[in-house]
Amino acid sequence: MAKNSKPRGYGTVLQEGNGFRAYGYVLDDAGKKKPTKKRFTTEKEAWDWLEALNRRNKTLTMEDGEAAPETVAEMMRAWLRKKDRQRRFEGKPDQKTWDEYRSIIIAWHAPAVGSVRLDSPSLRKKLIQHQNAIDKAVSDKTHRPLSASRKHNLWMPLRSAFRYGAQEGWISPDPMASIEKFAVESTSPREKVMPKVDADKFRDWLEVQGCNHRAGVCRLRWELAFEYGRRQGEVLGLHWDHVYLTDEEDKSFMEVAKKAKTRPWKHGCSKNTKGEWKCEKQARYCPNKHGGGIHIEDGTKGGKQVKPQIPLDSDVVTMFIAHKKAQDRERAAAVEHRTKSLLDPSHEGLVFTQPLTQRPYGPRHDATIFEKLLKRAGIKTPYHIHQIRHTAATELSDSTGGDLPNIAGILGHKSITTTMGYIGPDIDARRKALASAKALRMERKKKAAANVSGAVEAQPEPAGE
Ligand SMILES: [Zn+2]
Ligand SMILES: [Zn+2]
Repeated sequence: MAKNSKPRGYGTVLQEGNGFRAYGYVLDDAGKKKPTKKRFTTEKEAWDWLEALNRRNKTLTMEDGEAAPETVAEMMRAWLRKKDRQRRFEGKPDQKTWDEYRSIIIAWHAPAVGSVRLDSPSLRKKLIQHQNAIDKAVSDKTHRPLSASRKHNLWMPLRSAFRYGAQEGWISPDPMASIEKFAVESTSPREKVMPKVDADKFRDWLEVQGCNHRAGVCRLRWELAFEYGRRQGEVLGLHWDHVYLTDEEDKSFMEVAKKAKTRPWKHGCSKNTKGEWKCEKQARYCPNKHGGGIHIEDGTKGGKQVKPQIPLDSDVVTMFIAHKKAQDRERAAAVEHRTKSLLDPSHEGLVFTQPLTQRPYGPRHDATIFEKLLKRAGIKTPYHIHQIRHTAATELSDSTGGDLPNIAGILGHKSITTTMGYIGPDIDARRKALASAKALRMERKKKAAANVSGAVEAQPEPAGE
C-alpha cells in the first residue's frame, strides 16, 4: 500500500475523479518513446499495468552488439532481432508473422519467465511451470481453454529462442530440449465421424430419456442431427412454420430454410480523438452495443437458395409431437411465472427454445449440452457436434450404395465434391463394384464358349444379348 503517486522513473499513477490514471511510455518500432496513459478503478491495477508496460519496454530496448544475453528476456529479444534480419533480407518470416512473435513474447513469455537468468539452476523448473500455466490458460475472447494449435503457436517462439541461444553458446544444455512441446491435433476425414457404435449407444440412451428439457435432454434435437445430418445452425434456427406434420403416412416433411448464427456485438458509442471507443470496454460490454447475438438468417450454409425439403418418417413425427407438447407446457409456465424474456421478436416460434426464458440456444450453449449428454450416456470420447453430420452422411452412403446426388440433396450440399469429402472411401462398396464388373465379364465369356461348343454340337441357343 506504500505505492502512491510518487514518480518511479518509468511513469506515475495519479488519482483522477473516483479512479486512477497511469502515465507511462511505450516504444515504437524505431525505439522512440511515446507517452501513453490509461484509466483504472483501483490504484493497484494502475501500477500493475505500468509494471507490465515497463517490463515490455525493457525487452525492446536491447540494442545490437550488446553483451551476451543474461536473462530469458534478453535472449528472446536477440532471437527477435535475428528474425527481423531474416525478415528484411530473406522476406521470411513476413511482417505479420514477426509482429505475432513479438506480441506473443510480450504478452505471454516476458511477464512469466523474462526475468529468469539463463544460469539460474531453477530455469528448467520455471519453464515447466510456465508451460503448465499456458496449458491451463483460458482465452480472453472466448473464455474457453486454448486450443492445442494455439498453445503450440504460443510455445514456438520461446522454444526457438532457446534453440538459438544454445546455438550461440549462451546456454548449455538447452533446457527446452528435454521439455515436451505442445502437440498439434491432426484430423483425418475418418476421424471426423462419430463411430456407429457410439452413435447407436447415444441414440438408444436418448430414446429412453425423451424430451425432458428442464434436465437438458431433447431427443428431437439430436435425432435431427443423427437421422437427417442437419447442421447445428439449421437445427437451432428451425421454425415451426417450416415443419409440416400430418397424420397421413409419408406426407410429413420439413423445409430447412433458416439458420441460426451468432454475430459479434458492435459498439454503440463513438470514438474519441485518439481513436479509442468512449466506453473503454469490449464491444459486448458497451452500454449501447448492437448487432450481436443470435440471428435467424435466410438459407443454409450451402447458400441463401439452398433450402432442402426433408421427408419426416413417422417415428420422427412422433418425436416432434412429444417435443411440442413439452415446449407448449414450458412456454405457458414461462408466461405465467414471467420468466419468458425474448430479446428479439424474430426468435418467436422456434422449435428449440430454452425452457425458462423461451430464448433460442446459442451454438456454445448447445455444444456444452452435447458434452454433458455424452458423459451421461456413458460415452468417453468428447465428440464434436459436427461429427454427427459425418456419421449421418456415412450411414446414407452405405444404405444407398453411394447415391451421391441424392445424399448431396439431403445434406444441402451445393456440390457433390463436398459430399464426397464427408463420405470417404468405402472399400467394401468398391470391392462389390469390382466384383460385379468381373462377374459380368465372366458371364460373357461363358456365353461365348457355350456358343462355340453349341455350334459344334448343333444345340439350340438363345440369341446373344
Ligand atoms: Zn425436445
Ligand atoms: Zn462502446
